[in-house]
Amino acid sequence: MEPERIHPLNARPFGPGRYVLYWMQASQRAFWNPALEFAVDLADERGLPLLAAFGLTPHYPEANLRHYAWMLEGLRETAQALRERGIGFVLRLQHPPDLALELASAAAAVVTDRGYLRHQRTWRRYLAERAPCPVIEVEGDAVVPVETAYPRQAVGAAVLRRRILPLLPRFLRPLQERAPRIRADFAEPSLDPAHPEKILSLLDVDRTVGPVDLPSGTGAARGQLRRFLEKGLPQYADFRSDPRRDVTSGLSPYLHFGQISPVEVAWEVSRVGGPGADAFLEELIVRRELALNFVWYNPDYDRWEGLPHWARETLQAHAADPRPALYPLEDLEAARTDDPVWNAAQSALVRTGRMHNYLRMYWGKQLLVWTARPEEALRIGLYLNIKYALDGRDPSSYAGVGWCLGLHDRPFPERPIFGRVRSMTPEGIRRKFSL
Ligand SMILES: Cc1cc2nc3c(=O)[nH]c(=O)nc-3n(C[C@H](O)[C@H](O)[C@H](O)COP(=O)(O)OP(=O)(O)OC[C@H]3O[C@@H](n4cnc5c(N)ncnc54)[C@H](O)[C@@H]3O)c2cc1C
Repeated sequence: MEPERIHPLNARPFGPGRYVLYWMQASQRAFWNPALEFAVDLADERGLPLLAAFGLTPHYPEANLRHYAWMLEGLRETAQALRERGIGFVLRLQHPPDLALELASAAAAVVTDRGYLRHQRTWRRYLAERAPCPVIEVEGDAVVPVETAYPRQAVGAAVLRRRILPLLPRFLRPLQERAPRIRADFAEPSLDPAHPEKILSLLDVDRTVGPVDLPSGTGAARGQLRRFLEKGLPQYADFRSDPRRDVTSGLSPYLHFGQISPVEVAWEVSRVGGPGADAFLEELIVRRELALNFVWYNPDYDRWEGLPHWARETLQAHAADPRPALYPLEDLEAARTDDPVWNAAQSALVRTGRMHNYLRMYWGKQLLVWTARPEEALRIGLYLNIKYALDGRDPSSYAGVGWCLGLHDRPFPERPIFGRVRSMTPEGIRRKFSL
């Protein structure tokens, strides 16, 4: 394992525990998971079995039934796969870091995966400060670890691309997997992950946003990847921005829940090669990891203050420009605007939890046109994206909505409302595609 992926979070000595604990949070998979493989090695080294644990909180920030149903479906398969590898699995209705802390009291060491958002970092710090044993974080949901890629916030993709591309031969490679030497045989209390619907019935969560009809889990993600390699990738370079064609990978929800590794996806795509692969790896590695870089280094990633100074200044200077219409949140949420393309995109988001990237850009930009202030456009964009998108609450959510307001972009010639931020217009969309 590349040492840059391994981050000790405290300096405690190994405990006399009964097992090594893998606290699973971001990487919800049994395969191509560096944190899990690191934990297997550590368990073997200590002559102990490995226990994986997942804490299910009904209060996950901004999550609703749609997200919980999908996640639990994926965890059903992950739990089964872990058991087949001889790894114990505990799923409990408990605040995630508290479950990890409780189980840490009988662990020789705790291994966890890396999460990039504020609450994920707080949870890991909380555990590391209190656990009686070492807590080691292993970064497996980035091709190039975020601090290795760049030591501070990158202004745009070009900076990161220059740093990341030369590092790929070191980080883009398969991960060796093996079963732990000692098979787990635990009797720790746990919910039964084989019955997600029963678990869902125990959860007091927002049920106004219902589940979507998309298979969840590592098997479904790998199936989606296979179909993409065959059908989408050959057309990706030419048609990825065309919302009328279904050529993109559709992998973002699986990546968001850690059901598939970005390294596995990048590895499989790079083995095929060609212009499609180059264009895809630009999105999967450079763009996605630019979003990781943004939330990692910018404490205001979900606030107006997190946007670049020039963008805030120009948007503020145009905040009083007349708007063609102002829609309250309820109308936007219900897709009740005068723009049929926008309404279609918003309806798709509400019904399917998905929106094509090109429409997503237009959708976010239009919010600037229809809200009284740019701060409101940011707030509403994040709210709708996070509430309805299956891949929402992701670093790419904050970078994506931020991009609509100038983040990671350059200034353009000045226009009403947008100021120097890149604009997209209904006329432009109509000219480009017959929708
Ligand atoms: C307003 C707005 C909001 C967005 N919100 C999200 C979000 O909540 N979650 C999310 O994962 N992405 C978000 N994006 C980025 C992008 O729209 C999605 O990642 C992409 O549409 C997912 O579809 P796909 O998996 O078929 O992508 P593909 O084109 O197949 O790309 C492969 C992978 O690369 C990554 N990727 C692609 N485009 C981008 C991008 N522009 N920025 C960062 N990573 C990218 C994703 O992980 C994606 O799964 C947002 C973009 C905008 C403009």
